[in-house]
Amino acid sequence: MSLTELAIPPRRLVALIAWVTVVALAILTWLGWRLLEQDRLLEDQQVQQRIERAADLVAAALQRAVAADGQRLAAGNRDWPEGAVSLVWREGLVHVYPKDRVAYLPMAPPLREAPAATFFPGEEAEFRRGDHAAAIQVFRELAQSSDPAVRAGALVRIARNLDSMGRFQDALAAYSQLSEIDGVSLDGVPAELVARYARCKLLEAQRRAADLRAEAQRLDNQLRSGRWALTGPVYWLYAADVSQWTGAGLDGPREGEVFSEVVETLWRKRNSLGSSGQTSFSIGDRTFTALWQSSTDSFRALIAAPRFVESHWLSAAAPIVREQKVTSALRDSPSTGRGPRTTRRAVDTALPWDIWVEAAASEAQTGAFAQRRRLLVAGFAVLAGMVLLASYLIFRAVSRELAVARMKSDFVAAVSHEFRTPLTAMRQFTDRLREHPDLGEDLRRTCYDAQSRATERLTRLVESLLDFGRIEAGAHAYRFETHDCAELVRRVVDDFRCDARAAGYDIQIHQNGSAHIKADGEALSRALWNLLDNAVKYSPEDRTIEVTLERCRQAVAIAVRDRGIGIPAAERSAIFSRFHRGDQARTRGIPGTGIGLSMVDQIVKAHQGRLEVESEPGHGSTFTMILPAKD
Ligand code: ADP
Repeated sequence: MSLTELAIPPRRLVALIAWVTVVALAILTWLGWRLLEQDRLLEDQQVQQRIERAADLVAAALQRAVAADGQRLAAGNRDWPEGAVSLVWREGLVHVYPKDRVAYLPMAPPLREAPAATFFPGEEAEFRRGDHAAAIQVFRELAQSSDPAVRAGALVRIARNLDSMGRFQDALAAYSQLSEIDGVSLDGVPAELVARYARCKLLEAQRRAADLRAEAQRLDNQLRSGRWALTGPVYWLYAADVSQWTGAGLDGPREGEVFSEVVETLWRKRNSLGSSGQTSFSIGDRTFTALWQSSTDSFRALIAAPRFVESHWLSAAAPIVREQKVTSALRDSPSTGRGPRTTRRAVDTALPWDIWVEAAASEAQTGAFAQRRRLLVAGFAVLAGMVLLASYLIFRAVSRELAVARMKSDFVAAVSHEFRTPLTAMRQFTDRLREHPDLGEDLRRTCYDAQSRATERLTRLVESLLDFGRIEAGAHAYRFETHDCAELVRRVVDDFRCDARAAGYDIQIHQNGSAHIKADGEALSRALWNLLDNAVKYSPEDRTIEVTLERCRQAVAIAVRDRGIGIPAAERSAIFSRFHRGDQARTRGIPGTGIGLSMVDQIVKAHQGRLEVESEPGHGSTFTMILPAKD
């Protein structure tokens, strides 16, 4: 049986150690989990406090920013940053500032217009008589008027007659002239818009696509940027055709148009609003915010697109958001995140929106809590590792103790057995001599010889054990003297041969040079004897043993070679450990104590040498002691 097998403790012990380990680990895991849970709750509590504080600060910052713009509105400010317009109703007129941010207004101021009767004479020639040239003549005179309203009325009619006459180029020029007259209207529509639109119509009729697109584009820009104060119906009437000409027909509503719609919505609601306040409302997918101040004879409102809210009001809260490590949002419902958050309702803050404040997403990874949590997890991992390590060490120590106990009991059994064999022989021969006093001289001598051999074997065994004990304890006093190595080997082999020959073993010596060595003759002889004894014990069939003495450079090698059972490779390193016995030695019942090779190894090392083994199972083994030569 090998050492590893011996080292396995009984199953119940293994199960007990495993059970204790698992329970300890389970308790540790549960404790760790509880601690982490507590820590998380504490963290949530502290984060909650922080975001509550942050929410108050954010609300206060927003209140300040909104109030400042409210004051600007009251003071009549007209110059608003991108994304905002103010709507002012005063003395029956509606104004939007800055003007170019809306496409149309809820109501347009009336423009001056010439009375229709001014143009009756010309129209009489045009419609009754169909005399366009005469009509043009009449209108040309009116076109010289100092009143721009009359000039505008005359020019539009001139252009119309020129068109009817097929003089398109002249008609275009007349419309161009008309487009330069500002501040008057024709049938309620600004004269310039009428002129530009009519030019487009003419170009369309002429199929001058490139010119039409350029002209329409210009008109489109002017329409959108609030060049004229138009009402919604008038705007859409013109904008529909213009967007077709420019090719932008399918695009969604544009910024100016959306703002116009927002302004109109607010305007419609103005009577239901209180004297001042703020609100937010959605147009399409965008939420607009409005602040208003209303009295019997005036109405003012600031309308802010999401862009303005972001860049102007929310940015006022940005430093707080950064400092407090939170995110804030203005919306009706919370984000989908599940972290700690809080809200400040519009009704409580008198702001147009609910404010949501949440802990920044990175908090979990960067906060001091995360660091502490990592430390906790690491600490528990180390503890768990230590429990596992301790269990393993206990398991190993117990295994070793058990193995040593087994080895010791095996050793005692082996030693007893070793003693019993010569003792039995001695008893048998002594009994024989006592029971047969008349035994012949030859037989008597045989008995004495056998007794002597048994005594010698016992002596060697006892000496071996004593030596082993001393060597193991490091108490053996080596007496080094110079020896002729060949002589020493020959003497041991000759002594051994006497015993071995009787058992049918042939011990051969081959010498290839020799040397003097510094050695404890007795210890080295015991080592060589042990190797010879093993060679004999483990060679049950081929009974030839060769001892070779060889000189190689500064060393001398004494090898003992047998052709016996050999040693499996897996066992080769273990055979030098004390008490170790090979599998075959046990199964075949070969006597032995397991201390021989360990002792040989120690003796060779004490001589500054080394012990080597080569072996092939079934073919034999060679043990070589390599010792330093003295000369
Ligand atoms: P043991 O008293 O068992 O011989 P040793 O320490 O001398 O104790 O040897 C240890 C083990 O080494 C043996 O049990 C045996 O398995 C193996 N061994 C030693 N010498 C030989 C050999 N010449 N041939 C085969 N096996 C050997």
